[in-house]
Amino acid sequence: MSHIAFFNFPAIGHVNPTLGVVEELVKRGHRVTCTVTEHFVPAVEGVGAEAVVYESVFGEFYRSPYTAEANAGEGLRCLNEATTLVEQVGPFYEKNKPDLIVHDFMAWGARFFASKNDIPVVRLFPSYAWNEHFNIQERFPIAEMSDPQVMDMVGQLAALLPEYGLPADPMAFFQGIEKRGIVFMPREFHYDGETFDERFVFAGPCLGDRSFQGAWEPSFADRPVLLISLGTAATGWPEFFGTAVEALRDSQYEVVMAVGDHLDPAELGDLPAHFDVRRHVPQLEVLRRAGLFVTHGGMNSTMEALYHGVPMVVIPQMNEQRANGLRVAELGLGRHLAKEDTTAQSLRQAIDEVAGDQGVRERVDGLSRGMRATDGPAVAADAVESFLTEAR
Ligand code: UDP
Repeated sequence: MSHIAFFNFPAIGHVNPTLGVVEELVKRGHRVTCTVTEHFVPAVEGVGAEAVVYESVFGEFYRSPYTAEANAGEGLRCLNEATTLVEQVGPFYEKNKPDLIVHDFMAWGARFFASKNDIPVVRLFPSYAWNEHFNIQERFPIAEMSDPQVMDMVGQLAALLPEYGLPADPMAFFQGIEKRGIVFMPREFHYDGETFDERFVFAGPCLGDRSFQGAWEPSFADRPVLLISLGTAATGWPEFFGTAVEALRDSQYEVVMAVGDHLDPAELGDLPAHFDVRRHVPQLEVLRRAGLFVTHGGMNSTMEALYHGVPMVVIPQMNEQRANGLRVAELGLGRHLAKEDTTAQSLRQAIDEVAGDQGVRERVDGLSRGMRATDGPAVAADAVESFLTEAR
């Protein structure tokens, strides 16, 4: 039995994919500890791990509406998060030294702590990985290097790295590649997927048990189910849901709409009986029965749709989602619709086009079959265990 420590990043989309892997490692007899904020304690304890609780500098940030202003200074907060994490969980891990640290790619604190304490690491990619050929920052720039807040972060990072026994080279820190990385998507979906060598294991989305979200059954036998959601973070666009109502008021679909925390469904007025509007839905339950998904293209939503064989219309709100929307379009798995081009008419047209495209259906079904044939948590757990043996 080994002690494997998961260092998480405190957002749903980062913690969720790890849960199946943690559960599998616990089943295989390992002691698994997870650094989490209070919010995620039930989730990690539910799969048999010990929670090592810390207070994040992000607070409720990842459960608030996304705006560019709110997101400014993200890099500096990631750095503060890293040092805070080490300060708070360091004493516990010095007494309970793990054999291996498995860390989210944004949990930089894991790399600080591991380097200082000479502990091998495996890196988790709940989004795109990078190698010598592909880096999302180059193809879809997220951080502008000339932004004073980014420059400030890079300067502070350079000064800090040697304290943890790492070279004072921020670019090497950002572009560094670990000996083992686990990517929570199928290789076929990843940009330049064929260029990722044996250092990377593509485990797929690792969907865990979500029965705690409750069940969902369609209300109509003769209406295909259409799910609409902008995810949990990008809900700072409440007008979109009114546009969607207008686009689909006279449609043949059963429309299930998850509007998030920042709109009261009652504000949408009287709706026809074929609309089921809620703040949150048990998304996997709905996707199991859905024929189409209008989504913001969050990585989890995208993977969950593909796993369930559901074509998409992707209306991204931020960069990574744009990367997903363009990839969905490029691979013929649905359509990408820019936020600024979204009207009731263009939305309806995109939905009708995707729904009527047999080629899209077949390609999505093909990818779905491959994803279902992969036991993601087992693949990921095998990668962790084999690396543990190599690292000894
Ligand atoms: N989700 C859900 N019910 C909802 C809205 C979202 O269960 O009403 C889940 C969804 O299944 C996914 C996650 O929340 O696992 C959203 O993650 P994603 O990466 O798609 O988007 P984010 O919320 O991080 O922007």
